[in-house]
Amino acid sequence: MRDVDDQKDPSDLTDEFIKLFRAAAPERSQELDTLLEGVSNLVLRGGDQVGFVMESNSWFIRFSQRSLEAVWVLATSGAQAVELYSGAIWAAQVGMLDLSELESADPSEATYVKALRSNVNNAIDCLNSPDALHCKPIRPLNSGNLFEVLADDCVQLAVAFVFLHELKHRIKDQEETAELEERRADEFALDWLLGAARTYAKESGHEVGKVVAKRGMGIALAMFVIASLSPLKGSTGDPHPSPLDRLRRLLDLVKETVPEQTSFWIIAAAVIFGVLRVKGLPINVDAKGVTHQDLATRLLDALAEVA
Ligand SMILES: [Zn+2]
Repeated sequence: MRDVDDQKDPSDLTDEFIKLFRAAAPERSQELDTLLEGVSNLVLRGGDQVGFVMESNSWFIRFSQRSLEAVWVLATSGAQAVELYSGAIWAAQVGMLDLSELESADPSEATYVKALRSNVNNAIDCLNSPDALHCKPIRPLNSGNLFEVLADDCVQLAVAFVFLHELKHRIKDQEETAELEERRADEFALDWLLGAARTYAKESGHEVGKVVAKRGMGIALAMFVIASLSPLKGSTGDPHPSPLDRLRRLLDLVKETVPEQTSFWIIAAAVIFGVLRVKGLPINVDAKGVTHQDLATRLLDALAEVA
């Protein structure tokens, strides 16, 4: 999606996004066909303007190219946080490392967190600068090619989450308060990606925990995007659930399907830790001996406390 041709005319990208939705949850293909039967001009790229442009009404979803690119850059930065911090998360659990002392334990941490912050700031600058039609591609940290392939899949899922949320605004079936509509849009996107993961696992022969872990990572990256762009506790007048509430909801939902010692929880913990590090917030979490799931929850509690 990152490479959608900027010059394409008209800027109807419906087919590309239907493909994205289908790839994100192949088991929903039939449902998707029914939902979007006869629909055209659903996803449109509008002209450029400063700020984050991603909006929906009863007819279409409209976004700006730079906003899509910013989502891409931020989700990739979230994937870099997973790469950087999943080892530390594990080491903290087995008692080899105190997370609050990461910087002194690992001399390269200062360089990496600086690069991570600069990638996040790059996306924010791209949204706010009048001259920036495009976001600068981000520099790899210590990523190898394999990581890039894996992260790319999850970044696609993050983009899918953002647009599935918008899709629900487009197909909402009743009048409701703005706050409720936002919550329902989140629930729709979460359910689209996670609600039938078991069916997909069965059909494809994959373990359900792994399917949920991958899709959950995609959603966690979307949360990293949201947490980078908005105050963690939300802001007055913004009807969206706060980034903290959205993260909490993701963890609660995945708790129902994925055992507490699986990789999703390390990923979630690393994403939350990444938010703490990028924002330069203090880290006060006792990780020793707790399960992966407990640590993700503790880190989220810690984030809520210092936000
Ligand atoms: Zn919304």
